[in-house]
This record gives sequence, structure tokens and C-alpha cells, in this order.
Amino acid sequence: MVFNLPESVLEIIDLLNRNGFECYAVGGCVRDMMLDITPKDYDLTTNARPSEILEVFKNHKTFDTGIKHGTVSVIINDTVYEITTYRIDGDYLDSRHPENVKFTTCLREDLSRRDFTINAMAYNPQNGLVDYFGGEEDVKYGAIRCVGKADVRFREDALRILRALRFASIYGFSIEFNTLNAILNNKGLLNNISKERIASELTKILCGESCDFILRRFKEVFAVIIPEISAMFGYDQNTPHHNKTLWKHTVASVKGIESDEVLRMTMLLHDIGKPVSEKRDEKGISHFNGHPKISAAMARVILKRLRFPNDFISKVELLITYHDLRIKPEKFVVKRLLRDIGEENFRMLIKVQRADIMAQSMYERKEKLFNKEQLISVLNEIIDNGECYRISELDINGSDLIHKGITEGKKIGETLDFLLNLVMHDRCENKKEELLKHI
Ligand code: ATP
Ligand code: MG
Repeated sequence: MVFNLPESVLEIIDLLNRNGFECYAVGGCVRDMMLDITPKDYDLTTNARPSEILEVFKNHKTFDTGIKHGTVSVIINDTVYEITTYRIDGDYLDSRHPENVKFTTCLREDLSRRDFTINAMAYNPQNGLVDYFGGEEDVKYGAIRCVGKADVRFREDALRILRALRFASIYGFSIEFNTLNAILNNKGLLNNISKERIASELTKILCGESCDFILRRFKEVFAVIIPEISAMFGYDQNTPHHNKTLWKHTVASVKGIESDEVLRMTMLLHDIGKPVSEKRDEKGISHFNGHPKISAAMARVILKRLRFPNDFISKVELLITYHDLRIKPEKFVVKRLLRDIGEENFRMLIKVQRADIMAQSMYERKEKLFNKEQLISVLNEIIDNGECYRISELDINGSDLIHKGITEGKKIGETLDFLLNLVMHDRCENKKEELLKHI
């Protein structure tokens, strides 16, 4: 098997070789090249000690990424490459970090500490592929399999549970039997893992091609990360709009929207407040009045707990708040919402509403989808014509009003609101002299 490594990587390997050391590209980049995916970075592994790496690259820019753990970063052609000394991890006492690391001169030992067979391969042009654990075969058959005893490996570091689900979701791989059982048995250890790392893996899992399969098969694992979702499992929605349980509807909506971090998270949490807001009418049909607001509030709590950035949380919260809003495809209505949430959010909201509809029953589906088409054409018309929907776009501003003798701040605001309303209703042209007539 021959891979085309970038020039800079070949240069690093060559320089270390000429100084008497071994060096290989390793881990994710080998896996990705085998899958015909361009690696996002190339990690290197060598038997040179950190001080020796620094010596070999003394004429290059280097910096210390974690010399204690054996990693030196070298900058070549403006790209950073991490070069790590072959190492063995010490005992893990907290399901997270090895107590210490030990350097070794044996590549096999270094590869054996890695999580999955597909991530435990090394390659250089002289020796070709080094694959002690059957990684190539697992890539070929699409399998995630732990290196060594799965149960032990997840107990050492529970983050691997989510890494396994991530690779399975992104590459559409299945999870080998023992690995799968060990994931289910050790899921509780995820409580020891930092929230930031959980958040990062969860996002990647949601954005994967096979997220639907993973969310359904491993729902109990996700319930460890977000206990609130378990109320959705098996929950019968009991309305003609739905033919799936709440969790299956949720999963279908996640899969049914484009792979974008905000959109996928929005779908995951958009109905999370439904179980607590259910009310049954005399006919026994369920209603979930107010659930968007409750779901949005719950989403904020959940995402905050998982330490997502504030702007991410706010976007998800906004989309969930509006996800069930019936929006009449009338210019004034659309403009008012545009004023409130802006164009980008409006377009995202339509995607959210579409994905929601597509995950519902066929009941009134045609009508529901037609409404979205109409909304998009009204929206496009407003944007293409440059029609005004914000005070800042009015052909008149605060100082014009002050000139006219309106000096009180509150009055100025009210007047501008009033004029914007006229313009949005097409009752006045957005021209200063016309607007002044209405004051
Ligand atoms: P990507 O970079 O595409 O997200 P990756 O597999 O390269 O995926 P990194 O976090 O960059 O992931 O890690 C590089 C390599 O280090 C992995 O391929 C794997 O061999 C090893 N590795 C990373 N995290 C762990 C872990 N928690 N346990 C064991 N080995 C790990
Ligand atoms: Mg990587």
C-alpha cells in the first residue's frame, strides 16, 4: 500500500532518518488516507526523545506542545506538525488520564496504547504500512474495534466511548461486538470526563452521516450525557401529526437536516420539553402548548452544563423557540420576523421547520411543506427588492426627527417604530419626504 504524504511530512521523516531515528506518520492521518479522505493534519511518531527531536530540528521553528508527554511541534511551510516520541501510557486511575507516560523505543508498544485498530497504524515510504492489530482489515470492512481488551480500554479512558461513536457516525462503520458491549457496560464512566470534551465529541457525532443509527442504537449512552433525553424514549405523541415516538421523531429530524453543528443540535433538543408540557383534551388527543419555550429553556440549561459557547447556545435557543411558529406567508408577517431574528436565522428556521415536518406523519404534510416554499419565495422577494424591515433601513433617522422638534428619546423610538410599521405594511414609501408627512 502506497500513500502520498505531503512534501513537508516526507521532509520530517527524512531529516529524522538521516539523524539515525525512525519516524512514521501515524493515527488519524493513516486511517483517513486509507479511506481516501484528505487528512486534516498529519501526526508523526518517532523513537527520538523530545530533546533529540529539538536537536534535529534546531534550524526550524519548534515549540513545546507537551514535552512531558513527548510531543514537540515543528513548523514547516507554515504548517504545524506534532512529532511525538514512542510512548506507553502508565496506569489510568480516573478513567481519563494516565498517571504518567513512559518513552519506549518500540513502535509496536506505541501503537498498542492507541484506541481503535483503525487509529493504530503507522506508515512511512521506506517500510510501508505498519499494522499490528488488523486496522487495514477493519477499515476495509468498516469496523470500530478496540486495540486489546475493549472493557479495559474504556475503563482506562471513557472518552473513547464517544470517540468510537464518532468514528462510527462519521464513517458509517459498525461497532464490533465486544467493543459495543464494553461501550454499553462502561457508559456511566462518561461522568468522569470533562464537559468540554464531551461537547466536542457529541457535536461531531451529530454531524456524522450515520448519526441516526448511532443515536438510536446507543440512546442509553446519550442519556448519560444528557439525562433529560430519556423522557423522550418510547414516548407516544398521541396526535395525528406524529407516527413515531418522540425519540424516533427527534432522531429522524436530526438526520433530516443538513450537517451543521447548530442545526443538528437544534433538532436534537427541539422537542425536549414536550413530555413536561403535555395536556390531553376530551377526545384523548395530546397537545403540547408552550413546548417550544420550555424546550428552548431546557436546551439552554443542557448546553450551558456541557459548556458550549454562549453564541452557540443562543442560536440553538432562538431556533427552538421559533421552531413551531406558524408563519403566514405574507410580506408584513415575514418582515416582522425578519426584523426580530434577521435573515440568516430566518433561513435556518425554515430548514428546522422543514426537517421537523419531514420527521412527522403524512398528515397535512403537503400543506405544511407548501407553506415553507411560500415563505422562501416571500423572503427572497423582500431581500432581492431590498425592501425595508429594520429601523436602520428607514430613509429617516433620529436626527431628522429632532429637527422636526421631537426631542424626547422615547418619543423618537416610538415614532420610528410607527414609521417602520407603515413601510412594512406598504402604507408609505420608504422616502424621507413621504415619511415626514406621517409624523
Ligand atoms: P481526528 O484528528 O480526525 O479527529 P484522530 O484519530 O486523528 O481523529 P486525534 O485526537 O487527533 O484523533 O488523535 C490522534 C491519534 O491519537 C488517534 O488516531 C489515536 O491513535 C490516538 N488517540 C487519540 N485519542 C486517544 C484516546 N483517547 N485513547 C487512545 N488513543 C487515542
Ligand atoms: Mg488527528
